[in-house]
Amino acid sequence: VSGAPDPTVALSARTGRLAARLAERDLDALLVSVPLNVRYLTGFTGSNGMALIAADQNAGVNRFFTDFRYATQIESQVPDLFERMIVTGELLSEAATATATATGRLGFDDAALTVKQHARLRELLPDGWELVPCGGLVERLREVKDPGELELIRAASELAEEALRGLLESGVVGRTERDVAIDLELRMRRLGADGPSFPSIVAAGPHSALPHAEPREQPIPAGALLTIDWGAYHQGYCSDCTRTFATGEVSEQAREVYELVRRAQAQALAAVAPGPTGSEIDQVARAVIDAAGLGDRFGHGLGHGVGMEVHEGPRLSRTGGDAALLVGNVVTVEPGVYLPGRFGVRIEDLVFVTEHGGQPVTHFPKELTVVS
Ligand code: ZN
Ligand code: ZN
Repeated sequence: VSGAPDPTVALSARTGRLAARLAERDLDALLVSVPLNVRYLTGFTGSNGMALIAADQNAGVNRFFTDFRYATQIESQVPDLFERMIVTGELLSEAATATATATGRLGFDDAALTVKQHARLRELLPDGWELVPCGGLVERLREVKDPGELELIRAASELAEEALRGLLESGVVGRTERDVAIDLELRMRRLGADGPSFPSIVAAGPHSALPHAEPREQPIPAGALLTIDWGAYHQGYCSDCTRTFATGEVSEQAREVYELVRRAQAQALAAVAPGPTGSEIDQVARAVIDAAGLGDRFGHGLGHGVGMEVHEGPRLSRTGGDAALLVGNVVTVEPGVYLPGRFGVRIEDLVFVTEHGGQPVTHFPKELTVVS
C-alpha cells in the first residue's frame, strides 16, 4: 500500500495508548497472551508469542517472548520497541520472572488465561506482585482503528466486492448454494485474500429466512430472493458485507420487504457518527421496521465492529450496545427481515466512523438487482 504508515510508528502509538490505560488502573505492566492481541501490539504473526507491556513507557521495558522457531521472523516483524527474548521452555515462566522489581501490579487477560496458567503465574511471580484481571483491555483499544488499519480493512472489502462481481458475471442460477459459496471463496483467494473472513452464506428462497443459513447442495432457483453474506480475510483484517438479490421476477411482498430493509438501513447509516451509542443506532433501524409491523421479524442486532476479527466491538444492538461510537470505529449496519417459510432480506454495509459521520466502505449497489 503506497503511503502506508511506518509499522513501528503505529505499534509505538498502540503501546502508548495501552500504557495510558494501564497507568489509569495503577498497573505496572500487562501480560498479553491472546495471539491477535500480541499481533496487534507487536506485529508478530506467529502462533507462540507473549508480550509484557510496561505502564511507564519511559522507564519501563516492553518485552516480547517467543521460541527459537521464530528467531528470524521476529527480526522483521517485532520492532526494537520490544526487548525480544527467545525462550526455551514455557513463555509464561519467562514472562513472570522478567518482572524486575519486588512488588507491583500485573494485569492479565482473565478471559483467555487458563486456571492452570493463572496458578502457574501466581507461583512464579514474586510474592509482592498482585495479579489483576484485565480481560478485554486490548480488545477495546482495537475498536479504534488507526489509518493503516482502515486501509487494510478497505482493501479486504474491495477485494471481496471484486470477487462477488466476478461471481455474478459467471452466473448463479441453477448452481448449488454450496458451489457458489466455494466459487466465491476461491475467487477471493485468487485475488489475494488469505481466505474468507467467515464461512460464506449463500441462501436462496425460503432458506434465506434463516439469518445464519449454511449453503446447501440445492440449486438456486429462478424467481427467488438470494442472500449472500461474505467477507475476505486479508493481511490480518476482515471485511463483511451482505446483499440480497432477485433471481428474476419476485413477489410484490418480497419487493416491499426489500425496500423496507433498504430504508431502515439507509436511515441507520445516516445516524452513524461519533457520539450516539450502538443501541441508539440500532433503534433507528428498528423503528422503521417496527412501523411496518415487522419488528418481531428483525431478530438480531443491527451490527458489530469489524477489524482483526469479523465480530468484535463495538456492538450495535438493543442489549450490549451501550458504548458511544468513537471516531476510528469500524462497524457493520445490517438490518434484516426474515419471514419463515417464505424469504429473508438482509442488507449489510461496512462503515468507518469519522468525525463527519459514517463513511460506507462498501460500494455494491443496493437497489434490488436481478441476477441470473
Ligand atoms: Zn455479514
Ligand atoms: Zn456482519
